[in-house]
Amino acid sequence: METSPNTPWFRTLHWQIFIAMALGILVGRLGGSAAASKVAWMGQVFVSLLKMIIVPLVFTSIVKGVGSVGGGLGLGRLFGKTMGYYVLSSFLAIAVGLLFVNLIQPGVGADITGAAKAELPELEAPNSVGDLLLRMVPTNVAASAASGDMLGIIFFCILFGAAIACLPDSSRESVLNLFDGAFQAMMTLTGWIIRLAPLGVFGLITRVVGETGFEAFQALALYMLTIACGLTVHMFITLPILLIVLGRINPRIHFRNMLEPLTMAFSTSSSGATLPVTLRTVETKVGVSNRVSSFVLPMGATVNMDGTALYECAGALFIAQVMGAELGLAQQGLVVITALLASIGAAAVPSAGLVIIFLVTDAVGLRGPEVELIVGTMFAIDRPLDMYRTAVNVFSDSCGAAIVARSEGETGVDAA
Ligand code: ASP
Repeated sequence: METSPNTPWFRTLHWQIFIAMALGILVGRLGGSAAASKVAWMGQVFVSLLKMIIVPLVFTSIVKGVGSVGGGLGLGRLFGKTMGYYVLSSFLAIAVGLLFVNLIQPGVGADITGAAKAELPELEAPNSVGDLLLRMVPTNVAASAASGDMLGIIFFCILFGAAIACLPDSSRESVLNLFDGAFQAMMTLTGWIIRLAPLGVFGLITRVVGETGFEAFQALALYMLTIACGLTVHMFITLPILLIVLGRINPRIHFRNMLEPLTMAFSTSSSGATLPVTLRTVETKVGVSNRVSSFVLPMGATVNMDGTALYECAGALFIAQVMGAELGLAQQGLVVITALLASIGAAAVPSAGLVIIFLVTDAVGLRGPEVELIVGTMFAIDRPLDMYRTAVNVFSDSCGAAIVARSEGETGVDAA
């Protein structure tokens, strides 16, 4: 929704989303699961609409972006900066998680035997780094698109864009014009879907609140506090510092520009489903060029997950604390590395971060039914944490896009 400075506050989309969230909490609390089942479809339709446009949007965006950058030095430089930012921000997130879990020690003496447990969802997770690399190279692009395998699609689109850049001028321009037109159409379609956000968010939040039993939250309150503190520090201190130091960007302006994707990430718990909104906002409001945003954001939604990285580290150490296992410095180091890999491997869908935590616990020898029991208990209270870490994941991607754009000499980024 386009707004001008004279638009009354209640007509701005982010306020409408906030109101929808508040109404969702109210209706979910008062109406319980009966109310949730009546309005849940609104959220489902909204998320389906977002998912529907991910593949064509990412496809047109990357091909157009890479096609206009070219495949040579420009692309290599962009790739280096982007990867550098992903690794730096994820490690900082993990360090914050490590700090809080050692400071608060939520698992020491925690008794979770009586707490509610939940069945873990079946999500595909890579078993190793090699597995992750293998999955990047698709054997069939159409199959990757059909199954929503983002890494495979991104890999193909980058190569395809680079090949277009090598065409002779006249053919290159006509192909790029075609992709540009298709991309603009996808952006318009995204804009239409975003207008439905208040209804979708209302459905999603009512369902979460109406279907969640809050008793489970007591047993793990300290653990939730630990994760929430870590995520808050990363989102409101670490990432803003990176924006200032690396991008000379005013974090307040960046936050204000990013309100819509952040509320969307929070409501859907999926950086994948939020990607169309993130892409559109980073280009139209933050002011990052398509060349940079189409490179940094789709890949970021898939591999750069700061909130998840923080969660993997703090969550695995929490499990160790509950089990009374002492992890020495070397083992904590191993947790740090595997937490980074797990966050890269986690799919951009709800609860993926929790399911993949076994990769981290396994690495330090924490296995068996007790670990499964603890993770099941963590799953019972995962949704609010997932909402918050997804918002952090999306925010970090947008900070990365803004920082890389500034480093490439773009001056209109987060201009007041
Ligand atoms: N839900 C998160 C996301 O989509 C991943 C996670 O569970 O940590 O970004």
